[in-house]
Amino acid sequence: AKGAAMVTAVAYRLTEQARQIQQTLAEFRLSKTQLLEVKKRMKVEIERGLKKESHKEATVKMLPTFVRSTPDGTENGDFLALDLGGTNFRVLLVKIRSGKRRTVEMHNKIYAIPIEVMQGTGEELFDHIVHCISDFLDYMGMKSARLPLGFTFSFPCHQTSLDAGILVTWTKGFKATDCEGEDVVELLRDAIKRKEEFELDVVAIVNDTVGTMMTCAYEDPTCEVGLIAGTGSNACYMEEMKNIEIVDGKEGRMCVNMEWGAFGDNGCLDDIRTKYDQAVDENSLNEGKQRYEKMCSGMYLGEIVRQILIDLTKRGFLFRGQISETLKTRGIFETKFLSQIESDRLALLQVRAILQQLGLDSTCDDSIIVKEVCGTVSRRAAQICGAGMAAVVDKIRENRGLDHLDVTVGVDGTLYKLHPHFSRIFHQTVKDLAPKCDVNFLLSEDGSGKGAALITAVGCRQRELDAQ
Ligand code: BGC
Ligand code: MG
Repeated sequence: AKGAAMVTAVAYRLTEQARQIQQTLAEFRLSKTQLLEVKKRMKVEIERGLKKESHKEATVKMLPTFVRSTPDGTENGDFLALDLGGTNFRVLLVKIRSGKRRTVEMHNKIYAIPIEVMQGTGEELFDHIVHCISDFLDYMGMKSARLPLGFTFSFPCHQTSLDAGILVTWTKGFKATDCEGEDVVELLRDAIKRKEEFELDVVAIVNDTVGTMMTCAYEDPTCEVGLIAGTGSNACYMEEMKNIEIVDGKEGRMCVNMEWGAFGDNGCLDDIRTKYDQAVDENSLNEGKQRYEKMCSGMYLGEIVRQILIDLTKRGFLFRGQISETLKTRGIFETKFLSQIESDRLALLQVRAILQQLGLDSTCDDSIIVKEVCGTVSRRAAQICGAGMAAVVDKIRENRGLDHLDVTVGVDGTLYKLHPHFSRIFHQTVKDLAPKCDVNFLLSEDGSGKGAALITAVGCRQRELDAQ
C-alpha cells in the first residue's frame, strides 16, 4: 500500500509540474483577438509616425528613405556596397548590367567586427570599417577606381536626403560612442579621409529592409514591401508622399523605413509582455527600447527561452533544479541552435546532444520541455511579426482604396531563412489577420549588397539628371 501511495504522489507531482509549466507557457499563447489587437495598435503607431504633429513622440518612426521608386532595369555600373548591422559585416563589389540580358555579379568578403569595436568609440568603429574596405580593394585590385558606394546601415537613421542619415539610436549589439545624433555618412567620409589611401563617392545610405525590397523588386515589380526577420526585426514599404507629412511634396510615393522594432516602447504592448520579456529587456544594452524587436527577432528569442528555463529550473521542474553556469550565460541560444532544437527531423536524443554541446546536462524529460519552450517562444514571435505585417499590407490596401490587394513582400533574415517553423506560422498569421490581401513572399538573395548597389545606381542617375 505504501508503494502505491508513493506512485500516486509521484504521478501527482508530475501532473502538477506539467500543469505549472503549461501555465507558464500559456502567457505566450496569443489568441486571434489578441493578435488582431496587436495589428490594430501597429496601425495606430504607423499613423503617429507619419503625422507631423505626432512624429516627434512617435515610437514607430516611419523614417523617409528618399527612395522614390523601385528599380526599372536600366540600372548600370560598378558599385561598392557595405553591409553593417546584420549577422556579418561585409564589403561587396556589385556589377550591374542593364539591357536585354540584365545581370548582377557580386564579389564579397566577410569581416569580423570584434565586440570591443562594436562597443568602443565611433572613431574606432569607422576606422575599422575603412580598414576592411581597404583590404577588400587590395584583394580586388581596385584601389584607384573611386567607385560610388552604397552603405547598408541597418539601424534607424533620420534621412534628409539619399546620402545623409543621422543615427537615431544604436540597436542590437552595437553601442559605439559619439555616433548617435551624427550623420553616419559623414563619419564614414571622415574615416576615409583619415586613412588617406583611396577615395570613394558615398552616394546612398540604405536600411537593410529597403535593400531587400529593392532587390526583390528588381525581379518582381509588385514587390513594394521589405521585411527583415533576423538578428533584428523591421519592415519598409512604399507609402504615399501625401501621407508622409514630414517630407515636402504630395506627388507619388516614397519608401518608408518603419523601424517597427521600437513598437511597444510607449507601453502599448505591456499587456502581452511577460516577466521574461521584461528580464530580457533589463539584461540588454538598450533597456526600454526596441520592445517589439525583443519579442520577435533572432538576437532575443534565445534570451527569452533562457529566462524561462532559468525560472523553470529554479522552481525545480528542469535540470534537477540545478542552474548551471551555461544557463547563466547571455546569448547561448543563438538562432541556429533554436532552429536545430525545433527541427522535426531531430529525435529527442539529438536534442539532448545539442543541449549537451551547449553544456546543459539534460534528461529525456528535460529535452521535451526545452523543445516545447522554444516552440512556444518562436511561435509567438512569428505571430506578432505577422500581426505587424498584416497592419502594413492593409494600410497599403486602404491607401489605394482597394477591396483587395495583391502585393509581394521581399524578405531576408536568418530567423526567416533558418528556422524550421517561423516562416510558415508568419505567413499563416498574415493570411488570417489580413484576409483582404493576397501576399506573396519572395526571399531576397543578398538584399543588403545588391539592393544598396541598385539604390546607388538610381542615385547616380538622379544626380546626373539634376546636374543637367
Ligand atoms: C534596426 C533596423 C533594422 C533591423 C533589421 C533593427 O534593430 O533598428 O534598422 O532594419 O534591425 O536589421
Ligand atoms: Mg542583413
